[in-house]
Amino acid sequence: MTSRDTPLGKTSPRIFKISLGLSCNYACEYCSQRFVARNDETNPEDVTGFMESLDSWVLSPPEAIEFWGGEPLVYIKTLRPLAEALRLKFPQARFSVITNGSLLNPQINHWLDDLGFTVSISHDGPGQHVRGPDPLGDPLARQAILELYRRLAPQGRFSFNAMVNRSNQSRAAIQAFFAELTGDPDVMIGEGGFVDAYDDGGRALSLKPEEFHSFRRLAFQEIRQGKAGRISSVRDRTMSFVNSLRFKRPASSLGQKCGMDRSDSIAVDLKGNVLTCQNVSATAAAPNGESHCIGHTSQMQEVALKSATHWSHRKECPGCPVLQVCKGACMFLQGPLWDVSCDNAYSDALPIFAAGIEFLTGLVPVHIEGNLPPDRKDVFGFDGNSADGGVKGKPFPIPVVAA
Ligand code: SF4
Ligand code: SF4
Repeated sequence: MTSRDTPLGKTSPRIFKISLGLSCNYACEYCSQRFVARNDETNPEDVTGFMESLDSWVLSPPEAIEFWGGEPLVYIKTLRPLAEALRLKFPQARFSVITNGSLLNPQINHWLDDLGFTVSISHDGPGQHVRGPDPLGDPLARQAILELYRRLAPQGRFSFNAMVNRSNQSRAAIQAFFAELTGDPDVMIGEGGFVDAYDDGGRALSLKPEEFHSFRRLAFQEIRQGKAGRISSVRDRTMSFVNSLRFKRPASSLGQKCGMDRSDSIAVDLKGNVLTCQNVSATAAAPNGESHCIGHTSQMQEVALKSATHWSHRKECPGCPVLQVCKGACMFLQGPLWDVSCDNAYSDALPIFAAGIEFLTGLVPVHIEGNLPPDRKDVFGFDGNSADGGVKGKPFPIPVVAA
C-alpha cells in the first residue's frame, strides 16, 4: 500500500517491463507519455551491459516480459538483440509488446511470431481519428497488421487494444469495427476502459458532468445486450466484480488496476533505472514532486516507490462503491487531473457494477446510498441529479433483454 511516506520496495520480478524509450512515430491525443521528460535514448550497445546485470537482481525466471516504448518498433535495432538474448535466457517467459502497428512488415511479423510474442495493436476503432494517425489507412501497414492477426489470433496471441473517451463512447461500435475489419466475430479487444487524463488532451477527451449519466446508460445497455462481450475491460471486470461479491473478497486484498504497486512487478530502462512504471522516464518527476526514477537495479534494496499513491491512501477510494471494479485509477496522478480521471473511472465502472448486480440478483441498481456526491448516487439519471436533466419520470430507457 505504497505512498510517499510508506514507499514500496521491489524484488526479483514476476512481471518484468522493459522500457526501450519514449520515442514514437505518432503523437496521440491522450497518450500518457506525451509530455514526459525524455531520458537519454537507449541503443543496441546498452543490451550487453543490461543482460550481464540480470543475474545480480533477477533471481528466478520472470513469468512475463513486456517490451515497451514509446513505439517499441521504433527501437527495432535494440529490440531484436534484446528479445533474442532474453528468449535464450528465459525460454518459458511470456513475451508481449504493444505497438501502434504502423511499422509492422512481413519480416518483423515473422520474427515476432518466432520469438513467441503476444502482440497488441493500440487502435481505437471508429474513434482512431480522434486519437491520432490511423495505420489502417496505410495499405502496407494494414496488410501487415491483418497478416499478423491471421498468424497470432488463432493462438490467442493478438488483440486490438482500444480506449473509450468522450468522442468514442460506444464499445458496441468498437467491437463491431474490429469484427468487420478481421471478419472474425470472436476478435479479442484488449483494454476498453475509459482514458485517464494525463494532460489537457486527456482532459478534453474526458466526460463532462452533463455526459456522466448518458454514458452510463449507453455502456450499461451495450453490456447487457452482449454487444461489448469481446472487450476485456468489460468481460474481465464484470466477472471479477461478481466474484468479489460471491467470495467476499476484502478491499484490503486489492492492488492498483495496473499492478505496478506490486513488489514483483518492475519497470526498468536499459540503463538499469527502476521506474514508477513503463510510461515514464528516469528524468521525469511525478505530480507529487518525487522522481519517477525510484532506484537502480544495482542496488535493489534501495528501491523505493515514493511517486505513487495506493488507493487506500486516497480520500475518495476507500468508501467508493465501485472500488472493486476500478481499483483506483492511475496511482501517480494528483490534483485536477486525478479528479477528472476519477470521474471518468467512476462512470466507466458503474455500468459494470450494475451489470454484476443484475447478473446476481435480476435487479438493476438505480440509486446508491452513501457519502457520495448526488451524481454518483444517481446511477443512470433517474433521481434528477444529472447536469443534463437526466431521465427522471421517464420510462426505464434500457430495454429489458436477456444479456
Ligand atoms: S472511481 Fe475514483 S474514487 Fe472510485 S475507486 Fe476509482 S479512482 Fe477511487
Ligand atoms: S502508474 Fe499504472 S495506471 Fe499510471 S501510467 Fe503507469 S501503468 Fe498506467
